[in-house]
Amino acid sequence: IPVDPFDLVIFGGTGDLARRKILPGLFRRFIAGQMPEGSRIIGAARSEHDDAEYREVARAAIEEFGGEEKKDPALQDFLGRLHYVAIDATGEGGWSQLSGLMRDGVVRAFYFSVAPSLFGPLAERLHQHRIADGDSRIVVEKPFGRDLESAKALNATLASHFDERQIYRIDHYLGKETVQNLMAIRFGNVLFEPLWNSHYVDHIQITVAETVGVGGRGAYYDKSGAMRDMVQNHLMQLLCLIAMEPPAQFEADAVRDEKLKVIRALQPVDAHHIVRGQYDAGEDSPSYRQDSENPRSFTESFVAMRVMIANWRWAGVPFYLRTGKKLKARSSEIAVVFKDLGHSMFEGDEARHRNILSIRLQPNEGIDLQVTIKEPGPGGMRLVDVPLDMTFADALGPDGEDVPDAYERLIMDVIRGNQTLFMRGDEVEAAWAWTDPIIEGWERRADVPKLYEQGTGGPEDAQMLIHRDGRRWRDIK
Ligand code: NAD
Repeated sequence: IPVDPFDLVIFGGTGDLARRKILPGLFRRFIAGQMPEGSRIIGAARSEHDDAEYREVARAAIEEFGGEEKKDPALQDFLGRLHYVAIDATGEGGWSQLSGLMRDGVVRAFYFSVAPSLFGPLAERLHQHRIADGDSRIVVEKPFGRDLESAKALNATLASHFDERQIYRIDHYLGKETVQNLMAIRFGNVLFEPLWNSHYVDHIQITVAETVGVGGRGAYYDKSGAMRDMVQNHLMQLLCLIAMEPPAQFEADAVRDEKLKVIRALQPVDAHHIVRGQYDAGEDSPSYRQDSENPRSFTESFVAMRVMIANWRWAGVPFYLRTGKKLKARSSEIAVVFKDLGHSMFEGDEARHRNILSIRLQPNEGIDLQVTIKEPGPGGMRLVDVPLDMTFADALGPDGEDVPDAYERLIMDVIRGNQTLFMRGDEVEAAWAWTDPIIEGWERRADVPKLYEQGTGGPEDAQMLIHRDGRRWRDIK
């Protein structure tokens, strides 16, 4: 879908996120013909650069972090669309220059790719200098607060300068192809929705496993932990899309209203149903405490939990969530595990055949459905479970090149003015309202996370959490 010409200002345009994701993503959209004539990208950050130097920053970023597209001859043209203003978010330097650069008649979008403490000063100055108007959009990054109180304060700051319809809170998980496909599968097929409830679903697992540790950003992470860094936002968003009622339209507020209802229906989780972990030292690799340079850290690098949703659709169906660092593989998936057949007519078949719909976020974004068929050959009526696999890269084009990265898709949605895949302020607050008591409980009890061996599925207790219910985690692979 084409977009209107735009001026996109990236505050923090020289930072890690801009170089790693935003600039390479924009270049891919440029190649795809989605950056109309007359659109510009304006980097704005503290360091002094001119346009030519910023273009070199962008070229180096695309060469380092881009994929195949970095060889595309269009790079030079793309770089020509880039400009730069040295700006101080908390001072006056650079603002009149930025104001002079802005044009009328194009979409104005401002990406706040800076620390959240700068959101307020940026919003204020954008208004003071009349750079933002009633149609402008701002994009804000995670973390959106560290508890309910700080999230409310952040929302209030933004709301004093912008309407909710102008604020795009990014959760890049929502930009992933498979995550949107989850909605297509549920609401675009007759097959699944009738089964999507406690009558047919035994349980649901959501896993986001990483192999990296916190090295490099340990000091930041140590103040956050897996619950704040992953569960409150990314896992919660996945849970919402899986569990929500069908929205009447595929439209921003219709979808977000339904997600909000899910968060509000979450039961409080008691300590018995949560396991926190921290990775121990490996043979040649440091422990979490060494990585975070905090020898007495109680911060969790892993969390697993059993979550229940108190509504008609999901009564009695556990949602098992787990996420962690330094685990066995980098792998994220949502698995809907359907109930066993009530009765098998196949004599001697004692295996537990189950349909499992698994939605892979990485690696190899795709979907597979485990179905039971007859084992091929003359051996009689023996049953076997096989995957009906749809890897998007295979289905859509060689090397998956047609699957856009989450960031580029979301940035284009900002330009289009489509908020469907962005979190609304009340959603974020509701998620914190549910998370806060869990974290406060840990702090009150000075809860010590269980150590786990690197390259595994997390602490032993995480296995127990699900085994107790007669179930098992899916393999992380
Ligand atoms: P970074 O430290 O690499 O970059 C920060 C940028 O902000 C730099 O361009 C710097 O010049 C600019 N800046 C700092 N103070 C400024 C000021 N007073 N005035 C103007 N510009 C100023 O940070 P980052 O990793 O790019 O992260 C940016 C934001 O995105 C943070 O909120 C972070 O939590 C979030 N985020 C980052 C990642 C990631 O992969 N890096 C992922 C998710 C969210």
